[in-house]
Amino acid sequence: MDPGRTASAVKLYTAARVLTGDGEVLPGGGVVTGDGVIKAVGRLGELPAAAERVDFPHGTLLPGLIDAHVHLAMDGGDDPVPTLRAADDTVLLRTMRRNARALLAAGVTTARDLGARGFLDVVLRDQITDGLSHGPRLLTATRPLTSPGGHCWYLGGEHQGVDAIRRGVRERHLRGADLLKIMVTGGNTTPGSKAWLPQSTDAELATAVAEAHSLGMPVAAHAHGVDGIRAAVVHGMDTIEHCTWQTEHGFDGYLPALADAIAEAGIPVCGTFNPLLARDVAYAEQRRRVVSDMRRRGVVFIAGTDAGIRDTPHSAYAMALATMAGYGFTAAEVIRAATVDAAAALGVAGSTGRLTPGRSADLLAVHGDPLTDLSALAEPALVVARGREYLPQPVASG
Ligand SMILES: [Zn+2]
Repeated sequence: MDPGRTASAVKLYTAARVLTGDGEVLPGGGVVTGDGVIKAVGRLGELPAAAERVDFPHGTLLPGLIDAHVHLAMDGGDDPVPTLRAADDTVLLRTMRRNARALLAAGVTTARDLGARGFLDVVLRDQITDGLSHGPRLLTATRPLTSPGGHCWYLGGEHQGVDAIRRGVRERHLRGADLLKIMVTGGNTTPGSKAWLPQSTDAELATAVAEAHSLGMPVAAHAHGVDGIRAAVVHGMDTIEHCTWQTEHGFDGYLPALADAIAEAGIPVCGTFNPLLARDVAYAEQRRRVVSDMRRRGVVFIAGTDAGIRDTPHSAYAMALATMAGYGFTAAEVIRAATVDAAAALGVAGSTGRLTPGRSADLLAVHGDPLTDLSALAEPALVVARGREYLPQPVASG
């Protein structure tokens, strides 16, 4: 991958259209960047001169995309968990670097990692920020907080009892976590775990959230089952991951009144739509109805893929967005979920998610018009992350 030029040079990018992220489309527009930030956005005649200019006369410029739910430490192959558990930290960090590059090549300039081992996500985040490694801006949860033997226990985040949980949250903060991830329910990828059941007591959850918020860390709630989804709302968690309404019998636990409560509390839902989910046709049909009703009630969905889990490689981000469209989102709504809304949900709206002066120079150029054909996002022509240019190329393994 192109190592990228320095972020300081003033540059003008032009395209047949510019999607600012606010739903606005500027025909024949451009974006001026310099010092790693966006200096100006507008029609060509209105923009200041720049030393360098790059044109995409048939293409589109749009804000850098956001994946609100990734696992850099998982390889997205046919059996990622045993591979992760067998890897030492050196090997694992190499996997994470490769996956970060794959996300960047897919147009993702911000990603929230929701579960890694050994604080390696913090190491990689800082290397990327310092320009020592290529990847998106990372928001790191480090070890997901889980019960002993609970979902993803092997990532090292098992705690039981309010004192242990308080200490565990503080440790994550001290080690550099940006947010707290709580496995409010079990999960489907951990043997012995039951995704429809809560894993913690109300006192433990209240302690975890209060401690995290007192340290300025938002809380991402992994919740499949109804009781877990309700707990995420009751305890004021900041995003709900998956939200599949899973019961012992299937995915049949949808409660419209609880969806109303999610909407009223303004908690964004990251539905982790990915092609793997779409394989089960009956499930997909049921979930489509539920997602549509939740949206009608005002629930905001953000784009997140669970990249890294089985058969969900980080390079497949655009396919995951196409899956999201299959759940009833228009192309414009998918792009909004992957830019403006995701940035707001992740607390980084002041930095990214929009093409507007003062924001970080996070943008991509694609051939064609993603508003009429989302598959235009599949092969970005250029990715700019915090002002550094990357020419996406196939990502080498190793
Ligand atoms: Zn996940």
